[in-house]
Amino acid sequence: MRCSRLMGDNDPMSGDVLNMPREQCYDCTGCGRCCSGVLTVHVTAEEAARLGALAWADVPQPLVREGEKTRLAHRDDGRCVFLDDANRCRIHAQLGEAAKPLACRLYPLLPVPAAGQVRLDLRFGCPAVAENSGRPVEAHRPALRALLPALHLAQPDPPAQLPGQKPMTWPVVERVTRAVHDVLADTMLVPRERIATAILLADAFRPLFLTALEPDSLEKVLATFTRTAATEAVAARRTAPPGVVRAAFRQLLALYGQEDRHGARRSLAARWRGYLGVVTGVGRMPALRPDFPAVPFTAMERDTPWPREAYEPLLRCLRVRLESLGFFGERFYGAAYLDGLLALLLTAPLTAWFARLYAAGAGLPAPDAACTARAVAVVHDAHGVTPTLTLPAQRERLTLLTQRKALAGLWGWYG
Ligand code: SF4
Ligand code: SF4
Repeated sequence: MRCSRLMGDNDPMSGDVLNMPREQCYDCTGCGRCCSGVLTVHVTAEEAARLGALAWADVPQPLVREGEKTRLAHRDDGRCVFLDDANRCRIHAQLGEAAKPLACRLYPLLPVPAAGQVRLDLRFGCPAVAENSGRPVEAHRPALRALLPALHLAQPDPPAQLPGQKPMTWPVVERVTRAVHDVLADTMLVPRERIATAILLADAFRPLFLTALEPDSLEKVLATFTRTAATEAVAARRTAPPGVVRAAFRQLLALYGQEDRHGARRSLAARWRGYLGVVTGVGRMPALRPDFPAVPFTAMERDTPWPREAYEPLLRCLRVRLESLGFFGERFYGAAYLDGLLALLLTAPLTAWFARLYAAGAGLPAPDAACTARAVAVVHDAHGVTPTLTLPAQRERLTLLTQRKALAGLWGWYG
């Protein structure tokens, strides 16, 4: 069922601390993807004892010990040991939903404690989330509320605006985030210009310590910066990014495009060949993932306008992740606020590139919404999750690519 309306009950006066996104839908379609090796399911000591005692003859070793943690085991093909041939969870089928590990019961919902509330982020690597398929997430509020006590969530301190600075205040974090969010929802701008404006606006915050401003001054700064960014975004021309930026971007594409699965890991040699194939950007796209089409790299460089609706999955994903306040700090490799915000906006050109890849594979002149939803799932499978993105070299690449000119230029070229 395709989601057709906005919904939400986030009235701060209601005393309800679970803040749900208003425009996101989700119901599990049972595709089985999250159980096929892409998700690491860590279990608590209680869950480990309970699942370890199950006497299922064909599941001799349901758990794997990794240092301090225990996770569910996977078969050689990557599938969870509890997934049956019809893509159903056997624990769910035989013992009921409540018997599954908490991580499985939550996925793809991701509660984020922030600003005195619990907000809801979602894993856009789940195809149903990326496609906005099912009922409004609001429908999951009772089930989610029932699971919250088991998560033992603690409210974090507000983030620093930039590394080494003192912390911001939560009201300023919320207000500045809302300014970027509102730009992405501004129907006076075409979708492409909304993301360009958000990038320029976020970058404009760098020189100011926003928390030091009086509320009136902050409002004036946000209004002025937003107007200036929109004017610049509308006037921007499409110019090929410089070679050094394109090279760093391709390295990031290679990392975001790799799909890490348990069990069925590709050989190191195959991974390295795939990585180098994307980094050099010559010839055809290597099969980093089974559904990546082997199209020439030149297909992603075309100047073909996208239909308006093709931007919807990307805009929705960015807005939902902004609303969740789950794009910095603990949820994004410990990053400061602006670093996390700009890294989130960098997912826009990354997504656009993969959307172009899927469009080229389907013989389309430009991506449609389905191509973009698939690309959103690829990028947000990795964003904030893949450990390799925290390596020093990748952090340097993120820093380079989130500079104003590089990020705006990449979006202008691929978006
Ligand atoms: S990936 Fe999403 S839709 Fe597919 S089985 Fe998992 S939760 Fe359900
Ligand atoms: S326990 Fe069930 S829900 Fe969890 S990963 Fe395995 S098959 Fe999927």
